[in-house]
Amino acid sequence: MQFKSLKSRIAVVFLTLILLIQIVGSIAIKLSIEKNARASVNEQLQIGERIFRSLLEQNGENLSQGARILATDYGFRQAIASNDYETVLSALSNHQSRIGADIAIFYAPGRDSLTISGSLPEDVARGKVSALIKSAQNNGDTRDFVVFKNQPYQLVAVPVKAPLTIGWIVMGFKINNELAQKLNKLSNLEVTFISKSNDSHWSSMASTLNMASSEELVAISAEKISKKSSSDHPDNSEIDIGKTDYGTRYVAIFDTPDQALFAVLQRSIDEATAPYKTLQLNLLILTIIGALVFIAGIFYISKRITMPITELAETAKQLEAGNYDIMVHSDRKDELGKLGNAFNSMSEAIASREKSILKLAYWDEMTQLPNRASFMLQLGQAMAVAKEKNESLSVLVMDLDRFKQINNILGQSSGDELLHAVAERISSSTRRKSDVVARFGGDEFAVLLPTANIAIGLSVASALIKTLETPIQVNDQFVDITAGLGIATYPDHAENEEQLLSRAEMAMYKSKASNSGAIVFEPAFDISSQDNLSLSSELKSAISNKELALYIQPKIDLITRKVCSTEALIRWKHPKKGLVFPDEFIPFAEHTGLIRSISLLMLSEAAALSATWRDHGIYIPIAVNISARDLIDHDLPNKLNNILNTHHVDTSAISLEITESSIMDDPLRAQQTLDNLSQMGVKLAIDDFGTGYSSLSYLKRLPVSELKIDKSFVLKMEEDDSDSKIVRSTIDLGHNLGLKVVAEGIENEKVWDLLKEMGCDYGQGYFMSKPMPAQDFLVWMSRWDDSGTQQVKSIAKRIPKKRLS
Ligand code: C2E
Ligand code: CA
Ligand code: CA
Repeated sequence: MQFKSLKSRIAVVFLTLILLIQIVGSIAIKLSIEKNARASVNEQLQIGERIFRSLLEQNGENLSQGARILATDYGFRQAIASNDYETVLSALSNHQSRIGADIAIFYAPGRDSLTISGSLPEDVARGKVSALIKSAQNNGDTRDFVVFKNQPYQLVAVPVKAPLTIGWIVMGFKINNELAQKLNKLSNLEVTFISKSNDSHWSSMASTLNMASSEELVAISAEKISKKSSSDHPDNSEIDIGKTDYGTRYVAIFDTPDQALFAVLQRSIDEATAPYKTLQLNLLILTIIGALVFIAGIFYISKRITMPITELAETAKQLEAGNYDIMVHSDRKDELGKLGNAFNSMSEAIASREKSILKLAYWDEMTQLPNRASFMLQLGQAMAVAKEKNESLSVLVMDLDRFKQINNILGQSSGDELLHAVAERISSSTRRKSDVVARFGGDEFAVLLPTANIAIGLSVASALIKTLETPIQVNDQFVDITAGLGIATYPDHAENEEQLLSRAEMAMYKSKASNSGAIVFEPAFDISSQDNLSLSSELKSAISNKELALYIQPKIDLITRKVCSTEALIRWKHPKKGLVFPDEFIPFAEHTGLIRSISLLMLSEAAALSATWRDHGIYIPIAVNISARDLIDHDLPNKLNNILNTHHVDTSAISLEITESSIMDDPLRAQQTLDNLSQMGVKLAIDDFGTGYSSLSYLKRLPVSELKIDKSFVLKMEEDDSDSKIVRSTIDLGHNLGLKVVAEGIENEKVWDLLKEMGCDYGQGYFMSKPMPAQDFLVWMSRWDDSGTQQVKSIAKRIPKKRLS
């Protein structure tokens, strides 16, 4: 059995202890009672023996006296002298009955016959009687014990003198029940006589025990006596007769080899201990009552100890469950009372700490909106409700475009202000109070729309986009905000809150990449994100397997029509998918950092290409596209230098194109790298100009020599008036800053002419050539030259053959 509670354990320990003490006590008492009882039985037996011996002595004295009186009787002597044996017999018998003897015998030596009064045949008596008389002849009066036919007698022999001895009187008592009863009355002991003569076994002719017990005693005694050595006493140990234990004492009356007589004195041990038995019983009752009282006491005390502990445990459980209102009530002044008070103050402290942690954990301090954790919690609850009521639920996730750059240009505090304003606008475009707006950190926001299906989600999203269309004023500046916005709906798109949110995020990334407003999640998005995993390993092997190829697109002088420069553009010759365009893997490579290896590869390829062109006498610079990750690498100038040296090409053979946004990711480090490159003599161009946020003051500080107007303005400039205005002012801006201006995306002659008219320096586009495999370039160029000018020589003159050491 297991005792789980402290209460029962205390009770069990103390109960076991008390019971143990009581049991040991009772055993000790019982043992000492028995020891005392045995000692007292032993003493009684000793006294009994003494009484018995004096009883025999007294009987012997009575016999002697009786016989002596008869021996001095004149008439008796007369009868002997006159051989009147009838008178002798009658006198014997008179005297016998007077003193109560069991036998009386006269023996006259001359006559050699016995005169016997009593029922004893002469032939039985003769032997023993003559032996007794012979001893009396030597010693005078003689007393002795004799067994006649299994019946023991106590005999005395007295001479009859006139004055010479004329005969002998022998008188005797039977050792029988009468004697046993007498001794029993005097000593309160059981008395059994056992005897043996050479012609018979041990037997008992008298006993105060019942028949069966006396027979059992005879049997046991016979064995005991046979075991002892001849001179010894039989062993006085206890004897068990008929389930009663007797203290036993053997008293040898005589013990010769041919005859023996013992008196066995016995006292029942049980009887002797009987008076103590009641005492023991009383003691037992007292013990039980004591134990019961003790049990009650123990239970009361252990309850008093454990009740407050149980209460504390209960309170702790409540604390665990988050219930801090519960208090331990105790007016005790002892340790348990103190513990209770300590518990109360602990739960108060935990409650207040949890409150502040909760606030930190679920609240965005800056925008005063719930954070991601809080949003997930509320989303989980809302989904449970939606599941129960069979309703829809939508989640919008929004991520601001280029917030990092804005933050870098305007400063952290303005960035915060902007986020604040965005948060307010999002909140204003929700439908009702139950909609939850949260900030996920950085520039990511989310809106939970309970009971909203896809259509409602889309309408809220478009309301949101509309509120963001008005530029936000931060410190006297107006900032245009665009954002990627993804929508996912329960139960259409996901089963649990994590999945729903991640799918809304996937839709959001898609929206950011495609720049096309709010996008609702489609299962295809998820597969593509799984594709990303394998894309990473595929791209790595693409680098080592040389699947990446360099394509060349020329840049043409719009006035002279000469090829003045080229751009290196990457292509992936995928073993299964065929030719893969950079838009499909460059953003991914930038994201994973693989772009660094790709950039080095392209620089090497470009340098090698430049070396072959040089061997053909052609000196046209190749522009390589560089990403943000490359710019934060301080070692980039060094690496480029090594590459140029390896291929023995001049610094002027390679130029770099850098997008505005890649500089704005980390302007300080980018500026350092660009300065170093520029000092090396590497020409730098700003790519995709017009799509980023670079401020003019910033642009002025950069060591660039060329501006590339983004193709999105150029492609439709002949139709779109505003695009054409942007292009024109960009050309003027570039020139004012002392930069050459390149337009990319020229797809027809009309645009060429427009740009030429606007004063644009160079052009790049499908109209002149699509990007082509590097090895095709020389053929293309000779064809272009045929239709244009003698180009090779003039370029050769323009580019000095300076080489880096
Ligand atoms: P980009 O640097 O702005 O390159 C010009 C892109 O405009 C090229 O696309 C080119 O094929 C395309 N283009 C040129 N003329 C026309 C035209 O008349 N009409 C149209 N519709 N497009 C024209 P491409 O080669 O697909 O490259 C796309 C972008 O991938 C590049 O834009 C560049 O940002 C990136 N990229 C390409 N190669 C590399 C590379 O080696 N390294 C890095 N970091 N980025 C690269
Ligand atoms: Ca470019
Ligand atoms: Ca470009």
